[in-house]
Amino acid sequence: MNAEIIAVGSELLLGQIANTNAKFISSQLSELGINVYYHTVVGDNEARLLEAIKIAEQRADVIIFSGGLGPTKDDLTKEAIAKHLNRTLVFDETALFAIEEFFSKQRRPMTENNRKQALVLDGCEVLLNQHGMAPGMFLEENDRIYILLPGPPKELEPMFQYETKPKLAALLHDGGVILSHVLRFYGIGEADLETRIQSILEEQTNPTVAPLASDGEVTLRITAKAQNEQQAFRLIELKKREILDIVGEYYYGVNDESLGFKLVQMLLENELTVSAAESLTAGLFQSELAEIPGVGSALIGGVVTYTKEAKIKHLGVSGELLDEKGIVSSECAAAMATQVREKFGTDIGVGLTGAAGPGDHDGQPAGSIWVGIKIGDTEPLTYRLQLTGSRNTNRIRAVKFTFSYLMRELANQGYKKLI
Ligand code: ATP
Repeated sequence: MNAEIIAVGSELLLGQIANTNAKFISSQLSELGINVYYHTVVGDNEARLLEAIKIAEQRADVIIFSGGLGPTKDDLTKEAIAKHLNRTLVFDETALFAIEEFFSKQRRPMTENNRKQALVLDGCEVLLNQHGMAPGMFLEENDRIYILLPGPPKELEPMFQYETKPKLAALLHDGGVILSHVLRFYGIGEADLETRIQSILEEQTNPTVAPLASDGEVTLRITAKAQNEQQAFRLIELKKREILDIVGEYYYGVNDESLGFKLVQMLLENELTVSAAESLTAGLFQSELAEIPGVGSALIGGVVTYTKEAKIKHLGVSGELLDEKGIVSSECAAAMATQVREKFGTDIGVGLTGAAGPGDHDGQPAGSIWVGIKIGDTEPLTYRLQLTGSRNTNRIRAVKFTFSYLMRELANQGYKKLI
């Protein structure tokens, strides 16, 4: 096993600080018998960092990054790696909780930037930061290990010694392989899922099973250790079957397959078309779908009708209905879904309306959201969400929940579900 250390930070290049992190990590790695052949230093520049990663991948099994995990704009290490590995960034609840606690103890307002520090690469193992806010990350992908550590030495050193080194040692001395699969679920809360598979979670032998919640969905990571990849894969498959016997109805995909991807697959497989009328999400539903290649055969179009007047004028929702029931109502969501379906001549119409927050909207509390779905000539269905996140989190979650409701309802109506 050989390693390369990439220290990120313009301060290092400008000569303002010395790269003591690389020195520290190198000496630690030598204790493990891991060879370090290169130290790289790169400034806070995404293109150059991506270039450095590509070069390191050609010559190292373990790539260790130091710095750039902070809250400011020039801290871009995890974003660049996420982009490079085609992974999303998800909130680590433990880190988020610690950050919120820190600010509430200090009686200081927490900004969105501070929340950003709790974002980690989807599917990574999170390394606890005992002395700061940014969690570290340990990720295995394509026979390579990526380790992301914070810049300040007082944070990096203990994180390396107590969190990272034991993992590397375990990998080295076993001589085997470690394989992880992430199972994705929708339509079930984290707590509910955990309760249902409690006996499996309590076993925690090999493979291990770890739950992880992200916006609007729940994931379980199964990690197996074995002599070779085939054996590890078999162990994972057996555990997966055990889990799906209990909660299979909520399962929709594995590893990087997103909810949007699965929904689009389902629409295409069943030759269904969809349109959407969006209020609080203002196009996010369509935008998320548009990220999926091939969606052009399924997503026909839609409208953003943000105000009451726009809903009446451009969508044809009845003004009396809105006066009587309100904008944030089941009736409004149903009417939006029905009207947009008719206007665009699609099989499915979707309507999203609600109070994104932080304040109330039309007498309804922040996070109160209604989703309307009309499939074919069946009666429109509506779903109520009461979310507790920030404005944007609520908007993103509303879209994810809508994806899951739509998939669930299509499956209920006998459309083919692809797993
Ligand atoms: P923060 O949350 O403090 O922003 P970060 O992970 O984003 O942490 P940087 O912003 O890159 O890290 O660096 C923060 C500080 O850590 C620097 O000002 C410097 O004091 C120290 N530091 C960063 N990189 C190194 C390094 N390679 N060697 C020694 N010290 C470093």
